Amino acid sequence: MQKKRTIYGRKRVLVTGGAGFLGSHLIDRLIERGHEVLCVDNLFTGDKRNLDHLAGHPRFEFMRHDVCFPLFVEVDEIWNLACPASPIHYQHDPVQTTKTSVHGAINMLGLAKRLGVRIFQASTSEVYGDPHIHPQVESYWGNVNPIGTRSCYDEGKRCAETLFFDYHRQHGLDIKVARIFNTYGPRMHPADGRVVSNFAMQALRGEDITIYGDGSQTRSFCYVDDLIDGFLALMDSEPGWPGPVNLGTPREFTIRQLAEQVIALTGSASKIVEQPLPSDDPLQRKPDISLARERLGWEPKVPLEEGLVKTVDYFRGIVEAERA
Ligand code: NAD
Ligand code: UDP
Ligand code: UDP
Repeated sequence: MQKKRTIYGRKRVLVTGGAGFLGSHLIDRLIERGHEVLCVDNLFTGDKRNLDHLAGHPRFEFMRHDVCFPLFVEVDEIWNLACPASPIHYQHDPVQTTKTSVHGAINMLGLAKRLGVRIFQASTSEVYGDPHIHPQVESYWGNVNPIGTRSCYDEGKRCAETLFFDYHRQHGLDIKVARIFNTYGPRMHPADGRVVSNFAMQALRGEDITIYGDGSQTRSFCYVDDLIDGFLALMDSEPGWPGPVNLGTPREFTIRQLAEQVIALTGSASKIVEQPLPSDDPLQRKPDISLARERLGWEPKVPLEEGLVKTVDYFRGIVEAERA
């Protein structure tokens, strides 16, 4: 077995993008497991408040750094999550988005290669684009527009997967690639424009709920705690099995159903209004999670109703703080 990088016998783990929504939940779980965590983030979409509760923790360290640049640290395991994830964030500076996915992957893979350590990649259901196969299985190659407004993210993530698999084949790197489907929960950015955060904030502020298109497009929403269970199960899986593996929930809802559910839950007087559908917006999305069930013994447990209550509570705290 390889020597640990700390003298205390515990693992030192690097999480890129750790100040973001998923990264901060992952870090909580890694700290709970007794690891030392180094969080690397340029705070583009992340927020240090997501990690406030760890300030001063002896096993936690924050480093402001952009993964587009080389990083020389000594760690036992790498989780590469750095990348803006919501359409308005990744379209804000699309060139930087592609650079983050591609240069970020090259640098983190180079680091993993030098250290000889396992590396996780947060890939996405967007690699399937606007899918012709429903539900989406890992063997599906996708239907992606290479020159559209979502391409910086979709193609960036696809190229990152290519790099991961080439480092695996060419350099024998121990990789784990997760294709993450829509996930929601506390610490989502309230202004990230994603559907759950938008609907919750709109309902709580009594503003119109904006459905893009007629609301018949579908998504399957996974609660963050379930997703992180899946991340850990994948990272704990046997060496030599790289994935990719879908992580998400197969329970599919239309966007209109989600709007109605958020209104019912908040008791809001908000009205539903229709706005134009953004370009390349996938019509339907639902993961086939047979592989995750079989290889990881994982499946999501938290029903949408339950997860939404916790998420709405989180956003309620933000809205109340705005009013105070
Ligand atoms: P997020 O925006 O909350 O977190 C991303 C983090 O990466 C932020 O803290 C941001 O500041 C940081 N970051 C961005 N560019 C960086 C750079 N160049 N260098 C260093 N840090 C950088 O998003 P999230 O929802 O937590 O997503 C985390 C990862 O999971 C992303 O890679 C995303 O593509 C992937 N993912 C998320 C979802 C989802 O539903 N949340 C779905 C599919 C894939
Ligand atoms: N890299 C890094 N940290 C390391 C080792 C490598 O950031 O500890 C970067 C390095 O800057 C390089 C990239 O990872 O650009 C890819 O490294 P690799 O060794 O695969 O390729 P090469 O150095 O031959 O380009
Ligand atoms: N959406 C919507 N109203 C909003 C925000 C999003 O109807 O205020 C729709 C969006 O067009 C898409 C779905 O909800 O069809 C999910 O959008 P999100 O940005 O959350 O994620 P993604 O499109 O990446 O799945």
